Amino acid sequence: MQRTLSIIKPDGVSRKLIGKVIKKLEKSRLKIIAMKMLHMTRAQAEGFYAVHRERPFFASLTDFMCSGPVVVMVLEGENAISIYRDLMGATNFKNAAEGTIRREFATDIEKNVVHGSDSPESAAFEIGYFFNSFEIVK
Ligand code: ADP
Ligand code: MG
Repeated sequence: MQRTLSIIKPDGVSRKLIGKVIKKLEKSRLKIIAMKMLHMTRAQAEGFYAVHRERPFFASLTDFMCSGPVVVMVLEGENAISIYRDLMGATNFKNAAEGTIRREFATDIEKNVVHGSDSPESAAFEIGYFFNSFEIVK
């Protein structure tokens, strides 16, 4: 069993895609074991994406991520990290496979509707960033 962090980004929330994304998650082999809505401050968004601080898109990305509310979830399942990355599709929606969340719903390389952890180490950091142990159901 593995856990991963999912975020429905501000574009997904404002475009009323929460239900559509959750529907895809519930059709998958992943189980939602924690969920909440929150609106990050700039500092919180910068902390979350600290690994990307040297990237040219860091300022724009963190601006975007604190521009409105997001839905954060913990997903659990066998190979949850790669299963969810496959369900999301490529970072650039133009390269995302048919049937993926980003291919169906994203409009922009930055505004790509969802986030998913990319490794066990980042999943542990990202889950702990948003959830304490009492907020994750057994
Ligand atoms: P992913 O979300 O697929 O793991 P990255 O971790 O590489 O992708 O990037 C984090 C987020 O930064 C992306 O989801 C996207 O919102 C944004 N991003 C990535 N690459 C670019 C880019 N070239 N231009 C603008 N925004 C980008
Ligand atoms: Mg990433």
